[in-house]
Amino acid sequence: MHWTTHIITGANLGGALDNPALAGLLGYASHALLDAIPHHDPDREIGYVIDSMLGGLILLYLRKKDKYKQSPNLSSVLSGAFFSSMPDLELVVKIFGDVKAERFFFPTHNGEVQHRRISFWISLFLETSIVALSFFACRYFKNRKRLT
Ligand SMILES: [Zn+2]
Repeated sequence: MHWTTHIITGANLGGALDNPALAGLLGYASHALLDAIPHHDPDREIGYVIDSMLGGLILLYLRKKDKYKQSPNLSSVLSGAFFSSMPDLELVVKIFGDVKAERFFFPTHNGEVQHRRISFWISLFLETSIVALSFFACRYFKNRKRLT
């Protein structure tokens, strides 16, 4: 699954939970779940670089956004975003050379848990839907908390 998808869904998870430790733990676990969903991985390194840059910009945006700066749940949002995307950091070594999948730690990266490969456009639709669902779930839980 794309790094950007992990970051946004993790941030939404953290925003909904408002608990940095739980957001980090569930964000880390969500990485395995999202990686196991059928998706399209980029064919060339440039796809990973673009995805990484987009994800990094979103992390910076979350950190700089005034609304979140004043929000008490900023640490929960950042924890969810960081820990849900962290497992992909081990894949950075692929940029510098050919690395066998068995050398990776995370089970969805080393082949222990595999995913079905689908077309780019179906994957884009699916990942966009997952991001939208996480956004609305976050808003729902935040509104529910505010009303109680
Ligand atoms: Zn991954």
